[in-house]
Amino acid sequence: MQLGSDWNRRGFLATAGAIAGALLSPRKLFSSNGKPAAKGASVTGFGSTGNPYEELGVTTVINCEGTMTMLGGSLPHPELEAVMAMAGRHFVSIPQLEIAAGKRIAEMLKLPENYSALVTSGAAAAMQSGLAGILTGGNEALIRQLPDLTGMKSEVIIQKSHRNPFDHQLRSTGVKLVEVETLDELRAAVNDRTAMMHFTNFANSAGQIKVDEWVRLGKQYSVPCMNDAAADTPPVSHLWDYAHMGYDLVTFSGGKAIRGPQCAGLLIGRQELVANALLNNSPHEDTIGRSQKVGKEEILGMVKALELFLAEDHEALAREWQSRLEMIAREITKVPGVSTAFFVPDIANHVPHLRIVWDQARISLTPEEAAKLLRGGKPSIVISGGEGQPGLSMNSFMLQPGEDKVVAMQLSSLFREHTS
Ligand SMILES: *Cc1c(COP(=O)(O)O)cnc(C)c1O
Repeated sequence: MQLGSDWNRRGFLATAGAIAGALLSPRKLFSSNGKPAAKGASVTGFGSTGNPYEELGVTTVINCEGTMTMLGGSLPHPELEAVMAMAGRHFVSIPQLEIAAGKRIAEMLKLPENYSALVTSGAAAAMQSGLAGILTGGNEALIRQLPDLTGMKSEVIIQKSHRNPFDHQLRSTGVKLVEVETLDELRAAVNDRTAMMHFTNFANSAGQIKVDEWVRLGKQYSVPCMNDAAADTPPVSHLWDYAHMGYDLVTFSGGKAIRGPQCAGLLIGRQELVANALLNNSPHEDTIGRSQKVGKEEILGMVKALELFLAEDHEALAREWQSRLEMIAREITKVPGVSTAFFVPDIANHVPHLRIVWDQARISLTPEEAAKLLRGGKPSIVISGGEGQPGLSMNSFMLQPGEDKVVAMQLSSLFREHTS
């Protein structure tokens, strides 16, 4: 079964929203959140049990949803630890380190000539500082002035179907997003105030103007184009594909499938634009991006993470992820009434997924109820359900060794318990 990528990503965002909603109700925030730590638990020697989360009374979960920031993104590659620890042993000039790391990353990714990269605190930060750099250029007064756009361009064009919660980071610079649907509307929308044309990579199939045509039109109108491809690795080639396609700026999350530091991302783009983005970002003060601090640890960690990600056998990994799902499918379909199907979203979370459906006349459980029970179970399993789609769906690329068996077991017993 093939699902539209737009649905899938929306599903992710909606789930994230539901989790946030549960946590962010002000009442709940101020009452004790989660179960209290064991009575008499020591308040010194934090981490000595090997599970600091448990020491705080916070339950860790088995993640069947993928690279969700709300759940902690991804688990950084263990080989990052040594490099990040080394980073913490010296002082350096952060701008100098950013420039040197960007140069190394551009070489590793074989970016086009005159392209560089900037390690940011995430893809969202890359969006904001990239656009800020376009708006201000290298003009210090304008950099200090943002988000007051007096004397600057003030509009960003985006396809209506590409709007998503992350465009808040574009709006935070003060620009107005101008929505278009058709080519004619785009032609009519371009004017002297147009600063940038924004593309949301996961929405490619949803919009009338596709990723390659969008950047061709940008060139035609001499308007810089940004592509937000935050969650769109794998495939690994996306790290350079859009730069070679001509995108002036491209953003990626470091803490999703790349398995870099959780608080890191990448802005890839034309050198001059990347430099102007850096001027609008931490460590530079009186800038819109000063709140998006990037540490020396994240910068070095990101370089190492990319090195490891590039060296990975991505096909072997995909086979491993698929075989975990096949094992789960084999086990749970032993319960009468349960059936499964495999699919891979075209873009964003382009990894094997398993759709799990069941005959609700036989197993009296809605997908929402199933997801809730699994979340509350021991161990706690996070899996998507509902979203107006039948059944549950899951992926296996964030599972740790052995967790696939636990998921298969918990799902089977849940279905058995609710079989009439
Ligand atoms: C996750 C995501 C972002 C934000 O990335 P961070 O690295 O968490 O800042 C932006 N856009 C899209 C489409 C995403 O999926």
